[in-house]
Amino acid sequence: MHCNKCGRLVPRGKAKRVTHYVTLTDFAIGKELREAGAIVPRRQVTEWYCVSCAVHTHKVNIRPDDDRRKHTKIR
Ligand SMILES: [Zn+2]
Repeated sequence: MHCNKCGRLVPRGKAKRVTHYVTLTDFAIGKELREAGAIVPRRQVTEWYCVSCAVHTHKVNIRPDDDRRKHTKIR
């Protein structure tokens, strides 16, 4: 995977995935529409970060040395 920030190539299992939703409408208008019961279209944006960038941008926290050895499923 290419890191979204610095463009570094990182293994898929090592890269950090950050998913968030972007609405195509303005926030205030979107809120009004939602209150009116309309379905506001939103798009899922998936970003991949290398470990350095993920830590730097506070997407993930630095784990203790021995914790890093453990393989955990990434979000
Ligand atoms: Zn990076």
